[in-house]
This record gives sequence, C-alpha cells and structure tokens, in this order.
Amino acid sequence: MKIPNEIKLGGHEIKVEQVAAKDIDSPGEFNSYYDLIRLRFEHDSPESSLSECFLHEIMEAIKAKNNLVIDHTHLTVLSEVLFQVLRDNRLDFGGMSSGVKDGLTNETGYFHLDKTVTIK
Ligand SMILES: [Zn+2]
Repeated sequence: MKIPNEIKLGGHEIKVEQVAAKDIDSPGEFNSYYDLIRLRFEHDSPESSLSECFLHEIMEAIKAKNNLVIDHTHLTVLSEVLFQVLRDNRLDFGGMSSGVKDGLTNETGYFHLDKTVTIK
C-alpha cells in the first residue's frame, strides 16, 4: 500500500514518517504529544510488514488519544487480524466507489451505502 504522509484521526492531523533503522528502535512508534507515527523503513522491508505496522500504529494512536486500556499483546493481535481481514477481502470503507448504479448496490451486487438510506 501507499502509506500517506498524514492521516486525520479524531480531530488530529497525525504525521507519518518513514525513517531508517538507525533512527528508530522498533518497527514503529506513535508519539501522542507530536501527533507523529514513525515507521522503520529499509529497502528490503517487506511491504506487508510495513503496512501492518502502519495499521498497528494507527491503533496505538486511537488507544492513546482515547485513554483506552488495551495491553500490547491484544493490540498486536487485533492489528494483525484486522490487517489480514481488510487486505484479503479487499475491503474499502471509503464509499463512493466507482460503478455505483442505484446508490444501494454496485456492479458486484454488494450493498453499498453512499448516502443516507433507511433500511426497513
Ligand atoms: Zn505497539
């Protein structure tokens, strides 16, 4: 995936930096004071590891910004499994995907919410 330079999270603009291994002690980190995610990146970094680490640090940011109590093992399992489910099922929560015909389903027949719909 293309990792953005910034994400919006809960009213904050979180900067995302990819840094060399010599400049960071772990695969990734989130600094709540500076609203900064840093990811270790080397030319041979596996794409899936970097992408999953990005998701992990987003979850660390959600945890920190909301004072959630989640131990690190649980957060790691959640980010690994969520990463797999999102990736393997090509889930896109962005909405307004191309090919929308009637506003409810796209050409694949999947339910598609691109506007407020009352479901009875
Ligand atoms: Zn962590």
